[in-house]
Amino acid sequence: MPSERFLAAFLVVAALVVGILTDAFAWAGLAAALVWIALQQREFSELRRFSRTPLSGPQFRLPGWIAAGDRMFRQIRLARLRTRRTLALSRALQRMTAALPDAAIMVDAHGRIEQMNAAAEQMLGLRRGDRGGHLASLIRQPDFTVLVRGRSEAGIVEFPSPFDDQTRLEARRIVMEAGRVLILVRDVTQLNRLLTMRQDFVANVSHELRTPLTVIAGYLEALAEDDVDADVMRQLVQRLDAPTRRMRALVDDLLLLSRLEANPPPGDADLRPIDLPNQLDACLAEARMLSNGKHEFRSRIDRALWLRGVERELHSAALNMLSNAVRYSPDGGEIEIVWERAPSGGARLAVRDQGIGIAQEHIARITERFYRVDLARSRVAGGTGLGLAIVKHVLKRHRSQLQVTSQPGKGSTFFCDFDSGLVITPPTSREARIENEERSRHL
Ligand code: ADP
Repeated sequence: MPSERFLAAFLVVAALVVGILTDAFAWAGLAAALVWIALQQREFSELRRFSRTPLSGPQFRLPGWIAAGDRMFRQIRLARLRTRRTLALSRALQRMTAALPDAAIMVDAHGRIEQMNAAAEQMLGLRRGDRGGHLASLIRQPDFTVLVRGRSEAGIVEFPSPFDDQTRLEARRIVMEAGRVLILVRDVTQLNRLLTMRQDFVANVSHELRTPLTVIAGYLEALAEDDVDADVMRQLVQRLDAPTRRMRALVDDLLLLSRLEANPPPGDADLRPIDLPNQLDACLAEARMLSNGKHEFRSRIDRALWLRGVERELHSAALNMLSNAVRYSPDGGEIEIVWERAPSGGARLAVRDQGIGIAQEHIARITERFYRVDLARSRVAGGTGLGLAIVKHVLKRHRSQLQVTSQPGKGSTFFCDFDSGLVITPPTSREARIENEERSRHL
């Protein structure tokens, strides 16, 4: 198609030629003008159609119109693409805020709710219909209201949940553009509990260490005096032994417990075949030494029952239970250890004593760090208050559980139930040789 300029020139020339030939310039000029107007009119109606349905694209015929239409169509397509991307982004953002466990509420410059996510509805009891309402008057909690109104200096407040006094929420105020404010609310109940636990733990450890340290300091002071004779000095030095041992036991238990807590549970490759009967014999020998002949020991150990696990950890767990049986049993008491298959296919270790027993209300708590039924008695018996916490962690790391039955004045039984997936039979001599070779390669 020729360009508009060429077409116009052609019409002018045609009108002139026809005018010269017919001597009717006016009519020829009029006819040319009409042709020009008709062509433009057709393109103009196409423009109107295109403006109504822009996505179908323009169908111009004249080159000038075609070029302009193409430019417009490209702009429209680009704008459409941008709108689609913005929409997808906004939907993704909406999905993201909806999935957030924390409540997010956007309020305008007048404190009215503009947007909020699902967590805001669940956590604060807001409803969809509350959009447009004043947030400060919907949640009637003085600290929260102060924060929303921007009158809290720290920009962060803690307050009880509207549903449950025990649940603590923390709200934060973030100033956005155009006077808008974003209020974020999260549940800090668990975090507070952990912080309190940590503070208690530090206080307990300090207290536990302070007692033997005070004793040591007292003896050292006495030793520092000028006129201490050799015999007294020897006695004082001997007395330093007990508190020093106590401190060492405490530090050892603390280190073991923190290792158990900090390290991830052993993977399948870390669970080595263990001759548990042999380990139990070793623990029994240690318990006998601790008892110093004051208790009767009995054992029923299935020699053909081995376990996959971490040897050091299981040894420590069994020894802790046995030493508790010794320390909390009166002289002459009987202590029994049983290692057998459980009907479920797993294995069960039981340590039974005829000691002082534990009242029902304490049983659920004795595996907490530093929890003692009788603090003075535990100290006299040389306890650190961490033994059963260690047992519980070791068992948890072996996908197993601790159970306790006890009757005050009659005795207690501690059961460790091991998962059937950990139970194995002793390897044949060939398997044992391969295992030994493997182990020495790892060392
Ligand atoms: P401790 O070092 O004080 O013995 P544990 O964590 O081993 O700490 O035990 C926690 C508490 O559980 C003990 O202080 C004691 O009160 C109680 N306890 C543990 N084992 C026995 C048991 N065999 N008989 C009676 N009480 C026990």
